Amino acid sequence: MTEEIIYLDNNATTPLDPRVLEAMMPFLTNQFANAASNHGFGHQAKESVKIAREQMASLIKSEVHEIVFTSGATESINLAIKGVADFYQDKGKHIITAATEHTATLDVCRFLELNGFEVTYLDVDKYGLIDLEELKSSIGPNTLLVSIMIVNNETGVIQPIKEIADIVHKSGALLMTDGTQAFGKMPIDVDELGIDLMAFSGHKIYGPKGVGGLFVRQRRPSRIKLTPLIHGGGHEKGMRSGTSNVPGIIGLGEAAKLAKKDMGKDNVSIGGLRDQLESKLLEIPDTVLNGHPEKRLYNVSSLCFKGADADAIMIGLKSIMVSNGSACTSTKIEPSHVLTAMGLSEQDAYSTIRFSLGRLNEKTDITKVIEDINRIVLNLREMIKP
Ligand SMILES: *Cc1c(COP(=O)(O)O)cnc(C)c1O
Repeated sequence: MTEEIIYLDNNATTPLDPRVLEAMMPFLTNQFANAASNHGFGHQAKESVKIAREQMASLIKSEVHEIVFTSGATESINLAIKGVADFYQDKGKHIITAATEHTATLDVCRFLELNGFEVTYLDVDKYGLIDLEELKSSIGPNTLLVSIMIVNNETGVIQPIKEIADIVHKSGALLMTDGTQAFGKMPIDVDELGIDLMAFSGHKIYGPKGVGGLFVRQRRPSRIKLTPLIHGGGHEKGMRSGTSNVPGIIGLGEAAKLAKKDMGKDNVSIGGLRDQLESKLLEIPDTVLNGHPEKRLYNVSSLCFKGADADAIMIGLKSIMVSNGSACTSTKIEPSHVLTAMGLSEQDAYSTIRFSLGRLNEKTDITKVIEDINRIVLNLREMIKP
């Protein structure tokens, strides 16, 4: 690539932080031992994995033994929902989720529907928030699990997890949350929020791809058991067999440590850039913000440029990387299920661009993006004028 890229797609993935790579390097080279090997070399790897588990637990205020490492959030979501559904199915076969969840959650739920479970998909309002009264009335004695994400990947909208947890626990169900876009960017205390299970992933917080994990509550009010997806040597307390991805786990641990340290700073600096970008772009006529203006994470801006096609905008942006909806479904030519659930027309969903900022963005990037978007959107609208 000749021109330097401006990367505004941090909700799809983040670059690896050089400090994370440095922490991983020994484990990609000399310290290659299997963490399950019963010799001194293996014990060193095991000790390092333990530190990474402590770093992760410290970020979300869980106990160390409540962290299960996996290959990423998709696997963790599968493990949590299928694992609970299978293990506790005698208690009931009803699951509740929301229409705006990540496809990993929605696809697992559809799979379970084919296997005798009943799933309720909660609607959201125009801001992307679920209705707590609807949640209350949907929960019944057969409800096993409620799975609602903390932060939405397309809009940054933040669901009221603590209130959700209170409702869920009153009925004796468990609360699973997809915390992938939230952890490391906003403070999370799994006890205070009442979370029973939480999925997370390394590559959304400047860690490596192919590693993530699941928080599985092992203390009051419930010691949760899961049927594993992957059987074998009994790694990760039997919940996820397979030789530990030691370099990946070390990288995730380091990324968690850095996130804990830099969270406040990131919020101010990245949030400042996002606000600047958003306020300038909203000055373009017929441009609308998708999602709640306040109940939203600081790094995302989902904007609908009415009458301008998002794919055409992206072609015009050349070396500026943004997203037209969620990357995970961008191979399918369908409007974003998140935006349509919020009541956007197909046409408005196809005119939406998601800007997701990160640690590498600078003020000069934002200035260029504002200029380019203005020019491209006005040109495109000019072209379609009758
Ligand atoms: C990226 C993402 C996932 C999937 O994570 P992987 O680790 O890539 O499997 C799940 N949920 C949300 C909200 C995400 O942003």
